[in-house]
Amino acid sequence: MRIESKRSRWYFDFDRTLYDTDSFYRLVNNDLISHGHTEKEIHDVKSALDSYSFSGLLAGLGYTEDQVAEMIGDFHQHFYQGNILLLPNVTQTLSQIAHAHECHLLTFGDEAFQRAKYDGTSDLHPIMHGTHFITHGHTKGEALRDAGEGTVTFVDDSPEQLLDVHEKAPWVTLIRIMWPKFELTAHPEDGKLWNVVTSIEELI
Ligand SMILES: [Mg+2]
Repeated sequence: MRIESKRSRWYFDFDRTLYDTDSFYRLVNNDLISHGHTEKEIHDVKSALDSYSFSGLLAGLGYTEDQVAEMIGDFHQHFYQGNILLLPNVTQTLSQIAHAHECHLLTFGDEAFQRAKYDGTSDLHPIMHGTHFITHGHTKGEALRDAGEGTVTFVDDSPEQLLDVHEKAPWVTLIRIMWPKFELTAHPEDGKLWNVVTSIEELI
């Protein structure tokens, strides 16, 4: 009898792990400022949202449903800049990992918004074996628990997400990525529950 060896799985968060989300928001904010909004107004509306989405932000800024639809169409140029918003060496490194392992996207947020960003990031499409869009009311930890045990690695910038996975799927190897440009805050579990890397190449 031949025993099939199962390939190990790597799950990657999207925002601030693979994707320069801050630069993306800057593009969006610049557009909104050109529509007459101030940084503060945008910031206040954004802070009040449970989960960021263009439609939520625009509705919060007072646009009607029809206006929101039209403006989202105008903003699509930003979604389709996904490849230039990938962080340095992400494509090359994940391609190497994908030779020996399954790579999966595991992202949380407004699904249409996250999908639009991922759809615009075509360089990742041939690399990802699967994509998992987790929405409000669900967690990444639940998704990894339900995906079953095995040799699993999860990479995320957020300590909250890493702790959730640790609690619900304790067999998963955790890695925190702290790109210096995002100026993330150190966490007491850094170097304990998870190793910390500051660039994607350190994963290989
Ligand atoms: Mg993130």
